[in-house]
Amino acid sequence: MRILIADDSIVSRHLLEATLRKWGYDVTVACDGAEAWDILQRDSAPAIAILDWVMPSLTGPEVCRKVRLQQGQEPYTYLLLLTSKSMKEDLIEGMDAGADDYITKPFDQHELQVRLRAGTRIVKLQQELRRQAAHDPLTGVLSRSKAFELFDRELQRSIRENMPLSVILADLDHFKSVNDTFGHLAGDEVLREAAKRLQEGVRNYDILSRYGGEEFLILMPGCDEDAARSQAERLRSAICESPIKITSANGALHPLTASFGVTISSPLTLESPESLVQVADEALYSAKRRGRNRVVFRSTDSPESSDLLASMGASEAPPVIA
Ligand code: GH3
Ligand code: MG
Ligand code: MG
Repeated sequence: MRILIADDSIVSRHLLEATLRKWGYDVTVACDGAEAWDILQRDSAPAIAILDWVMPSLTGPEVCRKVRLQQGQEPYTYLLLLTSKSMKEDLIEGMDAGADDYITKPFDQHELQVRLRAGTRIVKLQQELRRQAAHDPLTGVLSRSKAFELFDRELQRSIRENMPLSVILADLDHFKSVNDTFGHLAGDEVLREAAKRLQEGVRNYDILSRYGGEEFLILMPGCDEDAARSQAERLRSAICESPIKITSANGALHPLTASFGVTISSPLTLESPESLVQVADEALYSAKRRGRNRVVFRSTDSPESSDLLASMGASEAPPVIA
């Protein structure tokens, strides 16, 4: 666990640093409040900070206030104020500024140790909750809310760097029949296996998430139309390459297929994640109408009606890339 120590007194700083290192903590040091604030804003900021109360440039409570003002900003930073002040009003002021705990100096080693343990427990719990919120519990891929958070970031980046971002919506075909035939547990098993096949088929900087029941949203940074089509085609093959063995249904083999709707962002038009997903969803709908188990691409400026003709008389034909 990494801890930031911010103290303008060299003696106090060194004593604290040596103590924490002895206890196995990874220590980062700041000599005043401004430096502490600078470190705490970094992506790789320590999760726990011990802040001296009186410091030049920014006091400990001022740093606490700044950190909490940024809140909503994750991950949570556990803040401990260290001060020679011991009056009750000070404690209230410190906690009111956003500190989680408060310790007076000269500090009692044992007291500091148990308070840091409590802080570490809270930070770990918070990290676990964040991890759970970011992932779909059934399949282990990213949750829809996390995917949309990353979507915003990737879209900004694609505009800044003038790079395409491809968006793929995949939907398992006739999935309801798996539940109807083998039961819900078997359906869950098939969903997990489908997610695993997709995960193995994407590159490690692609973003795979569970968009809804049996739908997956895949974001592929840097993929142009041709690359997006062929990546989606690879994923389609990965899903159907061999039947899924369903352990909870006595090892029954179920041939699974999926349909894919694909689009790419265009750096020239202002698009939102929602509007891109909608276009991918229209393409997916078209893939379903054309007979499923296929990839359909739709550009963000193509008229929706162009697919109506193609969808007429749709049947479960062999896959064709549109
Ligand atoms: P289509 O080819 O048109 O997509 O047909 P479909 O049967 O896949 O689609 P439909 O929307 O009719 O049914 C989706 C089914 O997915 C219905 C729902 O019960 C099931 N489902 C959604 N989430 C879960 C889940 O977490 N576990 C299981 N076992 N089933 C789920
Ligand atoms: Mg489906
Ligand atoms: Mg569906």
